[in-house]
Amino acid sequence: MNSFPQNLEQEIIRLKKEQNAIILAHFYQEPEIQDIADFIGDSLDLSRKAAATDADTIIFCGVKFMAEVAKILSPKKRVLIPDLKAGCSLEDSCQPIPFAEFKKKHPKAIVVTYINCSAEIKALSDIIVTSSNAKKIIELIPTDQEIIFAPDQHLGRYLEKITGRKMILWNGSCVVHEQFSEKELVKLIANHPQAKVIAHPECPESLLSHAHHIGSTSSLLKFAQENQGEEFIVLTEPHIIHQMTQKNPTGKFYDCPFVDKAGCTLCNTCPYMQLNTLEKLYLILRDGNKAQFGGELQMEEALRIKAEAPLRKMLEMS
Ligand code: SF4
Repeated sequence: MNSFPQNLEQEIIRLKKEQNAIILAHFYQEPEIQDIADFIGDSLDLSRKAAATDADTIIFCGVKFMAEVAKILSPKKRVLIPDLKAGCSLEDSCQPIPFAEFKKKHPKAIVVTYINCSAEIKALSDIIVTSSNAKKIIELIPTDQEIIFAPDQHLGRYLEKITGRKMILWNGSCVVHEQFSEKELVKLIANHPQAKVIAHPECPESLLSHAHHIGSTSSLLKFAQENQGEEFIVLTEPHIIHQMTQKNPTGKFYDCPFVDKAGCTLCNTCPYMQLNTLEKLYLILRDGNKAQFGGELQMEEALRIKAEAPLRKMLEMS
């Protein structure tokens, strides 16, 4: 049975120093994890940090594909995750065998893939993008070049709109961004008419059409910071509001709910990101590969090498 010290945070900091470890956390992690992390960011920030760190161990508080990126870019480092079950619905929506078949149907297309996918899908791609750099990278591709964009269909459609490029889209989606209730959003807008709607481009077009600002999590955070004291309706995973309130303490933030099959209005958190907790973070530092929930990320070197090329291409181009 696991027992926990009373001063959990202090123990985490002690173990982290002892092991020369760095804690990287995504904006969608619970506030306790964000507060103890050495670095908090979106997928692009975190991949850059993972590539540059001189720590021996990276503790990745996010989901598995993010930890894989850390391992791909820093293969000599030990990459640990607090819960090995922290997957991603978007990653699940694009599996290697059907994706390879899809690619075969479009042999001349360059494959541009959103970072929210498995290492196997990255290995089948030409360039990886994040929501921060996708527009810039797509605009660098010659206009007569066919493009496959995967796995997020909503982000793909948004990119088509802002770049004017028609792409061949894979039809994946993120469970969190897809299920915000438009009806609840409209109610929020009616109740807070001064509020600015800020949205992540993984949301469907019907939701994005209400937004004053659309961007990556870092971009949404920057927008909140630049508009001190204003009101915001936030259309992305609501744990980012923890950072927003720190950057804009006089601002007011409203998260948009979703409505489940039973008609209940619920907070729209990512079920995968929420698998990581402070307790599991402690256990992975204390027990390493023997930890009850987490473990060390393992990857075949041949797969890592194939997945690294499109990621490095992204880092060069962004
Ligand atoms: S918020 Fe969506 S895309 Fe992000 S980890 Fe969760 S399921 Fe995946």
